Amino acid sequence: MKKGYETEFNTYLKEYPDQRGYFGQYGGAHLPPQLIPAFEEITEAYQTICHSAQFISELRRIRREFQGRPTPVYHCERLSRMLGTTQIYLKREDLNHTGAHKLNHCMGEGLLAKFMGKKKIIAETGAGQHGVALATAAAYFGLECDIYMGEVDIAKQAPNVSRMKILGANVIPVTHGLKTLKEAVDAAFEGYMQEYEDAIYCIGSVVGPHPFPLMVRDFQMIVGIEAKDQFIDMTGMLPDAVVACVGGGSNAIGMFSAFLNEPVEIYGVEPMGKGPDMGNNAASITFGEKGIMHGFESIMLKDSSGNPAPVYSVASGLDYPSVGPEHAFLHELGRVKYDSVSDEEAVEAFFKLSRYEGIIPALESSHGVAYAMKLAKEKKHSAILVNLSGRGDKDMDYVIEHYGYGEQYK
Ligand SMILES: *Cc1c(COP(=O)(O)O)cnc(C)c1O
Repeated sequence: MKKGYETEFNTYLKEYPDQRGYFGQYGGAHLPPQLIPAFEEITEAYQTICHSAQFISELRRIRREFQGRPTPVYHCERLSRMLGTTQIYLKREDLNHTGAHKLNHCMGEGLLAKFMGKKKIIAETGAGQHGVALATAAAYFGLECDIYMGEVDIAKQAPNVSRMKILGANVIPVTHGLKTLKEAVDAAFEGYMQEYEDAIYCIGSVVGPHPFPLMVRDFQMIVGIEAKDQFIDMTGMLPDAVVACVGGGSNAIGMFSAFLNEPVEIYGVEPMGKGPDMGNNAASITFGEKGIMHGFESIMLKDSSGNPAPVYSVASGLDYPSVGPEHAFLHELGRVKYDSVSDEEAVEAFFKLSRYEGIIPALESSHGVAYAMKLAKEKKHSAILVNLSGRGDKDMDYVIEHYGYGEQYK
């Protein structure tokens, strides 16, 4: 396969996004006029700081000493043997401090806030994973932290709410509308508008207005850079395929960006949830169309009146009705293949990885593992590298309640 990619993608990371934050026709910053200066300030600060030797060396030190990077690449020998002749490897982002890849960009965002002289970081959170990672960064840097969260989500996600509070964040309940993520986004934006001179708004994936899709990609690229070196060290070769789950798309882009210019197949895995009907999944690229939401242009799931459609996945980190603009672009270019995995398949992979390897994966990451297990049956004698974006402790109670201890997956 694929010598052709070398010419096409060797300058890709420098060319995209363009100055205005576009990846082809996707991206940009679609903002209310009052917020334009705030995002321009962030863009300008980031573009200066990302070339600063001091910023880069400080971020490297934090990754090494605080986050515990590099995380290892691990060969799943027992799981692979059970599946046949293909070998499955994992990039262990579950071993990153706080148990997922999100801290990679939250520490970058926190360091940027510090360099910009901000006193506070503001964000919304749905299931609480982004809130916990940001609260961790805020504690590390000695910044105030306001996390807006719908009342319904607060009730559902008690352990993450406790974590944020212990870490010193203010969890601000949002009590209007459906009291979930969408209202929390609106409330966080309002909060930010009030005090953007002293605060910075931090987005939790490669979504939102420019420069976040660029900046979060840059902060997550360490995953792919490490993984490629480690994989070659281990096996003497490149993998035949890399796989990652796609919610907003940050863990995926971190892994993919190191392989775009290599002869490697790339797969992004979306959540098919309970099936293809609207409201039963969050497979944005699979079923979506072009639109603007949360300040950026991408592919999104819309209801009959053109608003963001209701979405669902067993993995709460994947239930977002759109996707990072760069994924929409890579889909259009045909460089990454986007496919999907159902709740059932993800839960089966959750138990298989636990039982065969002693690793309990996050339900989000289980989507990537499930897809690699399917690929392994199709492609004999190959090597597949999966980004294991996080650990599954947070999901155990839910899984036990709904699926028992997985007797049926033995
Ligand atoms: C939040 C989360 C995801 C989904 O976010 P992306 O931006 O698509 O990576 C995936 N895995 C885990 C463990 C998460 O916490």
